Amino acid sequence: MLLRHTPKEITGREALVINPAKTCQPIGAMVAALGIEGCLPHSHGSQGCCAYHRSTLSRHYKEPVMAATSSFTEGASVFGGQANLLAAIQTIFALYNPEVIAVHTTCLSETIGDDVPQIAEKARQEGKVPPGKHVINASTPSYVGSHVTGFSNMCLGIVKNLAVKTGKRNGKINIIPGFTEPSDMEEIKRICAMMKVPVILFPDTSGVLNGPLTGKYLMFPKAGTPVEELKATGDSRATLALGEWASADAAKYLDSAFKVPPVILDLPIGLSATDRFVDALRKAAGVTVPASVEFERGQLLDVMADMHPYLYGKKVAIAGDPDQVTALAEFFLVLGMLPVHIVTGTPGKRFEERIHKMTGTMGRPVNVKCPGDMFLLHQWIKNEPVDLLVGNTYLKYIARDEDIPLVRHGFPILDRIGHSYFPTVGYKGGLRLIEKILTALMDRQDRDSTETGFELVM
Ligand code: SF4
Repeated sequence: MLLRHTPKEITGREALVINPAKTCQPIGAMVAALGIEGCLPHSHGSQGCCAYHRSTLSRHYKEPVMAATSSFTEGASVFGGQANLLAAIQTIFALYNPEVIAVHTTCLSETIGDDVPQIAEKARQEGKVPPGKHVINASTPSYVGSHVTGFSNMCLGIVKNLAVKTGKRNGKINIIPGFTEPSDMEEIKRICAMMKVPVILFPDTSGVLNGPLTGKYLMFPKAGTPVEELKATGDSRATLALGEWASADAAKYLDSAFKVPPVILDLPIGLSATDRFVDALRKAAGVTVPASVEFERGQLLDVMADMHPYLYGKKVAIAGDPDQVTALAEFFLVLGMLPVHIVTGTPGKRFEERIHKMTGTMGRPVNVKCPGDMFLLHQWIKNEPVDLLVGNTYLKYIARDEDIPLVRHGFPILDRIGHSYFPTVGYKGGLRLIEKILTALMDRQDRDSTETGFELVM
């Protein structure tokens, strides 16, 4: 009902976004901070921002998400939030005793112009930061960028504040897994373990945002990347940044500050991108690809070949984060599908160019917009219907209005589970994606088939 009045006719819009395909920077910063062991994210702004960010994350992960706030009131809004943050740092260490407080800013504290690194330094000088504990920070004004930018900024904050170089290489490979699910981070670690490559994966929300029910509440689950490992990222052999938008900045910083060579890759979603990830890992670590990894690749290839007739020529509309959408579009093309409408809400110059280049082989025009919104996506669909929608929960309105099957992927997913526990990266993740897509398409085929066309066997 929400979108019933979306008009088919598209008129130019410059200053109006309707149903954005993104959310705000601090949410990404919070996710990245939660991937550090013993870390409490801290929102330097008003309580409302923090409450919104925490509730969105709790709804997506179905887990309690802890974060503190500077609780700005009128006074802080006028005179700045230094006093609030100093008091917060002292109180947090005294009450909750985290290893790290990861401070991110909000629209309000950025507009005031609070200098968070200076305030953190003042807290250290005044003895408000206990020995061995850390306060790190990231600038995350939400009137630019998106949750992906916020994630990237906090990854950069992690290495800027914590990484050191001892001069002795540790033989490890840094992996920045991008704005992905805890299940994806787990899967990336599993692939690295299969290849016997020692890695420092950061941030790592596996076990934090998809932990078990034990009957015992731990404010800081025994998971996440330990601070000692984060410090050691300056001594690693190389950094693999998975997803240019979410991970490249931190990898480039490690290169410029500590000469740790970066390799910027796509998210390893689908056959080709996973091949590139495995190959880059092999080269960076100087190992060979084991038979177990080749076996999983072969399984994915087998299913792709078997299911090709059911996927070939199916039109798809995709909305989501640029790193996710780019990798998905490539996978769909390899599967013989046609990604015809694509939007991301996260700004970035190279996105449209990359998608156009990638889809050039399709031999037909593709609608791409960056930054775009779901209203425009809906209009495109009204002009050229698709067989499948892929994106976050907010696409369910378009799915309902246009009667199109939806495969939920990306952030946020507020009305389903599974994303925290079952990966979509790697060869196994590719299998899961195909399963989800096929199920959606075949369920629709069954629903719409005639009595005589209702098939038992595919
Ligand atoms: S957009 Fe700005 S003001 Fe709104 S919740 Fe996000 S950080 Fe807070």
